[in-house]
Amino acid sequence: MRVAFLGLGIMGHAMATNLVKAGHEVTVWNRTPGKLVEGAGVAPTPAAAVRGAEVAWLCVADTDAVESVLFGAEGAEASLTEGMIIADSSTISPSATLKFAERVASKGAAWVDAPMTGSKIGAQNGTLVFIVGGDEAQIERLKPLFAAMGKKIFRMGDTSKGQATKLAMNLQIALIFEGFAEALTLATKLGVDSQQLVSLIDATMVKSGVVEYKAPFVLARDFTPNFPLRLMHKDIRLTLEAAKEARVKLPALETVEEIYELATEEGHQDLDYAATLTLLEKWAGVQVKGKAA
Ligand code: NAP
Repeated sequence: MRVAFLGLGIMGHAMATNLVKAGHEVTVWNRTPGKLVEGAGVAPTPAAAVRGAEVAWLCVADTDAVESVLFGAEGAEASLTEGMIIADSSTISPSATLKFAERVASKGAAWVDAPMTGSKIGAQNGTLVFIVGGDEAQIERLKPLFAAMGKKIFRMGDTSKGQATKLAMNLQIALIFEGFAEALTLATKLGVDSQQLVSLIDATMVKSGVVEYKAPFVLARDFTPNFPLRLMHKDIRLTLEAAKEARVKLPALETVEEIYELATEEGHQDLDYAATLTLLEKWAGVQVKGKAA
């Protein structure tokens, strides 16, 4: 298929690369020029990238970024035509998604919200899980693209339900990781070996995909970003906003948001969200160590 891929960050670059590898005709655009994908064309603006494409696939930071890529100066909107699909893998506001979808519908373009989970490794290996909202027929048309970038898709309902579900998923990731980080901090302070604690977790019902993914990085004290703290913070805020709109109270997430706020004040926003551990360590006066650290 002819695909315009807009946004070549940690996730987008790997996803566009996998589309090229699967034989699709890809044109990329990124806000900061100079990022390239081998085998793909490069366009100077979103409007130029989308011209003549069947699908415009977005993977940018947040709601404002999606709005500006689509509707800002030289935005994709100018090149939308009847029958095109916009697939948005950015994690953004569900209510804004509905507004954007309505606006592009006036040009005859369909909207599929397709946020994903799997992080940098999943994007690189083409094993993402897509959490999708939109019309079934449009999603069917996108199947070859989903197959090139991921291992599974879950349709959660109509437009915006993918984003709503993604927020509910990241709420759990943030809370599960914070539980793990608090457990590591307390256990270390009480003299328990962290590696041994992780082995125990793995052998019991406490085990989770989040811990499995994060433990090796944490024990090696490798906080280089797989999922940057600033983006998890953005998702926590989006979740609290969506909860407020829906009059739902999320007390545990409100508390975790304060930790992200403090981690940001400490200048950790571009590290992985696992770096929230370092605040707990600081308050406890300990440092979690694995075999490698
Ligand atoms: P990233 O590495 O920070 O990349 C962000 C991308 O968005 C870059 O291409 C950046 O362009 C672009 N961008 C930011 N603000 C923009 C604006 N105002 N206008 C146009 N482009 C803008 O982020 P990422 O990790 O790839 O994440 C992308 C999206 O996927 C986010 O919504 C994130 O929440 C979601 N996500 C990430 C992960 C993960 O593990 N990393 C997992 C699931 C979902 P520049 O190069 O010019 O800065």
